[in-house]
Amino acid sequence: MVEEKRKNVAERVGVQQREFNDSVKTRTLLRYEVKSGTAETEPQFNLQTFYLLGTRIDNIDGDTARKIVSRYVEENSGRARKIFFSNVHSICVAQRNRVLKYCINLGDLVLADGSGLKIGGRFTGHPIIENLNGTDFTPAILKIAEERGWSVYLFGAKLQVVERCCMLLFLKYPRLRIVGFHEGHFRSGEEAMIVDEINAVHPDIVLVALGTPLQEIWTSRHAHELKAKICIAVGGLFDFLSLTRKRAPLWIRKIGFEWFYRFIQEPNAKWERVIVEIPMFFSLLFAKKLFPRRLQKIIRERVFS
Ligand code: UDP
Repeated sequence: MVEEKRKNVAERVGVQQREFNDSVKTRTLLRYEVKSGTAETEPQFNLQTFYLLGTRIDNIDGDTARKIVSRYVEENSGRARKIFFSNVHSICVAQRNRVLKYCINLGDLVLADGSGLKIGGRFTGHPIIENLNGTDFTPAILKIAEERGWSVYLFGAKLQVVERCCMLLFLKYPRLRIVGFHEGHFRSGEEAMIVDEINAVHPDIVLVALGTPLQEIWTSRHAHELKAKICIAVGGLFDFLSLTRKRAPLWIRKIGFEWFYRFIQEPNAKWERVIVEIPMFFSLLFAKKLFPRRLQKIIRERVFS
């Protein structure tokens, strides 16, 4: 069952990658965005952008991140700004999946998520200012959305999950304008229809919860077609908000062991992240410090791909 699901997702990501590679339009647009990306053009916010194993991180505190996101929504740039989260999982997937790395690095804002990045950042001389994971950061944005009347669209997760998530969000933020939702288990031919559905209700914010790497690739491919102001790739957020998945108690989150709690909850789905990706992440960081570039490339290609 898990294998089958994994195969389906892999097939879909494969299709997306192929389409993505072929899409001259998207590539041209992304190239344009390299020049106009936030990191270079918003000096007033002092984004201390750095790259960990080639993947971008905008090292900022939560307050600044919320200000930037608010500005994105209010400035109306004519395209959906892409907000991503870099974490150990996405950085490891990006080592094998160049499209993902490309997409994350061309996001408008890439926030540091998780205790692994805290250690990695310190190790490479870029101490992380604040852990801004999507599960805490996005509700803070929804609170602002409720206060300012911004509309929200939920895209991702299973149908029952996203429905329940909308219902519980209505209870938690009674004035929040949720203008629509769509489940995340779709076929690749349905993408254009989903974009049309989203555009028909003119949301300000689109939350994309498809998991990595699908959500970053989907967002990068469609941001220029969406009439929304921002797209946030939120991973498993809907599972938490709908209470389908239980979040780690606060004390576990505070000591930086939420990843372990998730592993205990779903060992079949998350074993690879703990057994393969965490050691891979730290050994690559060590290798980067200790060995010359050529040797790093060989290690990455021979051992981890
Ligand atoms: N998902 C989806 N479509 C897919 C694959 C996954 O909507 O094709 C959803 C899945 O139902 C879950 C979320 O994406 O709600 C991914 O959760 P995960 O825990 O993997 O996210 P992460 O750990 O990356 O935050």
